[in-house]
Amino acid sequence: MRTLPKIGLLKGLGVTLKTMMTPATTAQYPHVKPDLPPRTRGVIALMEENCTVCMLCAKECPDWCIYIDSHKDTIPPKKEGGRARTRNQLDRFAIDFALCMYCGICVEVCPFDALFWSPEFEYSTYSVRELTHEKERLRVWMDTVPAPPDLEVGAEIPPEISDGLAAARKAAEAQAAQLMAASQPAAGGGGAAGGGQAAAPAGDDDIHVEAQVDQEVFDQLVAEGKSERVARAKAKAAYVRKEKARIRAERAAG
Ligand code: SF4
Ligand code: SF4
Repeated sequence: MRTLPKIGLLKGLGVTLKTMMTPATTAQYPHVKPDLPPRTRGVIALMEENCTVCMLCAKECPDWCIYIDSHKDTIPPKKEGGRARTRNQLDRFAIDFALCMYCGICVEVCPFDALFWSPEFEYSTYSVRELTHEKERLRVWMDTVPAPPDLEVGAEIPPEISDGLAAARKAAEAQAAQLMAASQPAAGGGGAAGGGQAAAPAGDDDIHVEAQVDQEVFDQLVAEGKSERVARAKAKAAYVRKEKARIRAERAAG
């Protein structure tokens, strides 16, 4: 004798009903664009100028999907009698995104900041060959790489940035001094006009402060719930900033 469907059937119908009532969580891409986080791993971009052809990324890639070709150029010595040097020149850099598993190891291991993640992901194609992006295309992706996040409050500017800023400031000062010298009328006869030299404003480059923990800032940060490691780093940065400001003020007064 056949048994009547009982509780199991009712449960199944309940699940169906519940699913019918629940709004869909899928999006109708490409009509609806996904709202992805800004640091999404979409595609890898190459800053060719930074690549020294060290091959680390290609060696570490678990999928062996980075292809690099290069040759060596000989650079003549700077001084007579010096030794000629060789420099690697990149001929080909390509990533096969049909093989890439987006692990990010290549971006992490690159010691020269030549590889970056871009959130762009719309490069699907009907031809698998077109998924191998050559360096020209990888360079184009650089325009879509998000800017680095702001420094934490109290953090010291990294040396690679502060050095660049200092060099740019010096170049601007030198250019301004040149313009000023060029705009001054050629002094006729050694007369009344004194040939005073405009002193360049002093920068922070020569101010060296030994980092110490600013106890007041440290205590305050710990009280705010920051970890000791973070609080110590921020307290040191605060101390250096304070000391530099004090020295600058002393110089300005003197
Ligand atoms: S993301 Fe991973 S798999 Fe893709 S190229 Fe880089 S190292 Fe290779
Ligand atoms: S690790 Fe960086 S510098 Fe070295 S070959 Fe790869 S991209 Fe170029």
